Amino acid sequence: MLSFLKNKNIRLYVILYFFITIILLSQSLFNYLGYEFSAIIGLFSFFTSSLITYKIVFIENEKKNFFDSIILSIKINLLLLLIPLLLSILNSIFVKNCSFIHGLLFFILIPVVTVIFSVSLSTFVYSFFNKYKRIILLIIFLLIIIFSFLEYYINPQLFIYNPLIGFFPGLMYDEELSITSSLIIYRFYIIIISILLLSFAYIFYQIDSNVKYKIKIYKLKHTLKKPLTIFLLLIIFFFHFFSNELGITSSKRYIISKLGSEYQTEHFNIYYSSSNINTTNLKEISNLSEFYLTKISKELKVNFKSKIDLFIYPTPQEKNNLIGAKYTLIAKPWLKQIHINQNSIDEALKHELVHIIASDFGIPILKVGVSAYIIEGLAMAIEWQWGYRTLHEYSSSIIKFLPQVNIDKIFSTYGFISNNPNIAYVLSGSFIKYLIEYYGVDKVKSLYSTGKYYELFGKNKDNLISEWKKYLLTYHNFEEDSVITFYTFKRPSMFQKVCFRTIANLNEKAYNELQNKNYDKAIELYKESILLSNNFTAKNGLIIALFKKGEYNKVIKISQQFLSDNSQNIYHIPLRIYRADAFMIKAYTEKNPIYYDSAYQECNMVFKYHISENLDFNSRLRMTIINDEKNRENMIKYFAENNDESLKMLYLYEIIYYDNYNLSNLILAKILFNKNQYEKSLDYLKKINDSNLSNFFLYEKYYLYGFCLLKSYQFLEAKEMFKKAILYLSNESLINQTNEYIDFCDFMINKQNSK
Ligand SMILES: [Zn+2]
Repeated sequence: MLSFLKNKNIRLYVILYFFITIILLSQSLFNYLGYEFSAIIGLFSFFTSSLITYKIVFIENEKKNFFDSIILSIKINLLLLLIPLLLSILNSIFVKNCSFIHGLLFFILIPVVTVIFSVSLSTFVYSFFNKYKRIILLIIFLLIIIFSFLEYYINPQLFIYNPLIGFFPGLMYDEELSITSSLIIYRFYIIIISILLLSFAYIFYQIDSNVKYKIKIYKLKHTLKKPLTIFLLLIIFFFHFFSNELGITSSKRYIISKLGSEYQTEHFNIYYSSSNINTTNLKEISNLSEFYLTKISKELKVNFKSKIDLFIYPTPQEKNNLIGAKYTLIAKPWLKQIHINQNSIDEALKHELVHIIASDFGIPILKVGVSAYIIEGLAMAIEWQWGYRTLHEYSSSIIKFLPQVNIDKIFSTYGFISNNPNIAYVLSGSFIKYLIEYYGVDKVKSLYSTGKYYELFGKNKDNLISEWKKYLLTYHNFEEDSVITFYTFKRPSMFQKVCFRTIANLNEKAYNELQNKNYDKAIELYKESILLSNNFTAKNGLIIALFKKGEYNKVIKISQQFLSDNSQNIYHIPLRIYRADAFMIKAYTEKNPIYYDSAYQECNMVFKYHISENLDFNSRLRMTIINDEKNRENMIKYFAENNDESLKMLYLYEIIYYDNYNLSNLILAKILFNKNQYEKSLDYLKKINDSNLSNFFLYEKYYLYGFCLLKSYQFLEAKEMFKKAILYLSNESLINQTNEYIDFCDFMINKQNSK
């Protein structure tokens, strides 16, 4: 069987395969049997297979049995694939492979099928063409690549199906990646094409190679008479006709028909699903879109005329089915398209819109900036809303607390992509914002399309970076800020995590079980995930599932273990809220007030770091309640009810009825607001007595007040409330956010007046 190794040529391929595998296995992301590894081997095997086929079928085996030599070629090429396969399996001794079966399936679906395709395609080309055979094959290869790029360029989709590498999930892809039915169907289709190519090649092979092309094509009628050929051609036709439905491609028209509804505003075509968005939501979305467009255009000094397609997907799953990304939010500036999930409109619309409006001064054809850090930096700088600090504050603390970050390196396309995305986005945003503030937006716009610093600023890039760093030093960082800096920016990047795909798939499954209140199943899945890799996402999920199940003692005990793990304790800070609740419940049920002290300590440990508005609210709320001996026992019922929101609300109503407790009014108002019951929410906000409330909750009250009025289209009154809320604020990022809503009110007041 191994006799083919005697051939000098084949020995060369063995060495080549060996080398490419060793190189791949030494790179992260490619160092185990999985999608990325299979795709590169697939691409490589396309070339080796066509060269080997030429040698075997047309030189050494000239005019002998056609099919025997084809089978020999496929056999040799498949045997060569054993080299990368076995080496990657061997490598799993050093690099854990969490899903071997998954990896093996990718290997069968990608390089194995590519070998069959390559042998068939090259046999076809070699037997049909009389001259320039290998050049023609190379041209076909380039056409396949160009066609894939064109598909990405013209269609909204992020993914590409390609005969050589199977599929490409997109440049910015979600962590989960599994074998889909679309991939299996597509590879099946490639095999059918291969069979057809071979049957055509057989006809040409029998004819004298110097016969004219016209005669060769004419001879094809022999195979076209066979029922099998007709059948296979029908399958190919069927495949093309239903390629959208099969998930192989996704045209704009298909996505629009799937979403179902369409609405036009002055600058937008909004495509959405009417089962998820009613007319009230739609009106809000169009007002917000027009507001952002006006604001961004003004800041960027752009007179934006063309219409923007805004696709709103009802669920991440639906978005994944249609364009191939669950959580990644995208803009295709050259198509003027934004693709966004319904529940991420508030946080993402402005950012994506900057990408589209910047197409006005982007490079030709692609309409983007010259480098990734300039593209994303501009979007972040104009958006200027990210996390719980301003980007300048974050950047200043990155410089102070994360000295290992090589900042100068991030400002290049490779450096940007290969770095932790949070760090890369935030630093780029702060840098571009600095350039806009100190040198004006016009120069930054020119920089966007040229990347030329010296010509525009009279200084080179390095000088400007040091200037910006010097400016950041004016921001004072407290020692406590190191925690939010680590919490936000020190997370291990995707490439460093062990088995990140398997973990991501497991955690997603567990999360769904948690949402569906199947706590036992969720606990089981999270435990499985933790066993595979010590990951904080699963550990946090496990505690939440235990809490929801009412296992308070376990919550306290196990979370303590997680929090004492020094390498990850920062990522477990949110668990302290669950610990606090468990302690409070324990204090109540065991009639032991000492546990209230423990609960207070937990909340204090969260609040002092100011990590997010949500954590600040939840910790401060509990601290205030614990200090209120008169009301705290009444509130326990509210904290202990985990599954039934209407019951939770009932407890709050009860407390308000017997004793008009300020904080239960505020919590209830928040819940009602989230249920879109603005009038009712306002009723409870009005019951709050300001004189008993700290600045922190006064801000919460007036911000919510403003929002309820805004949602009820009372913009003049809303604006006053937002202005009042700002008086109680010291957090720069929240001040900016509130100011943005004041701007929105002004925009709407103008609009109403101009009617
Ligand atoms: Zn972006």
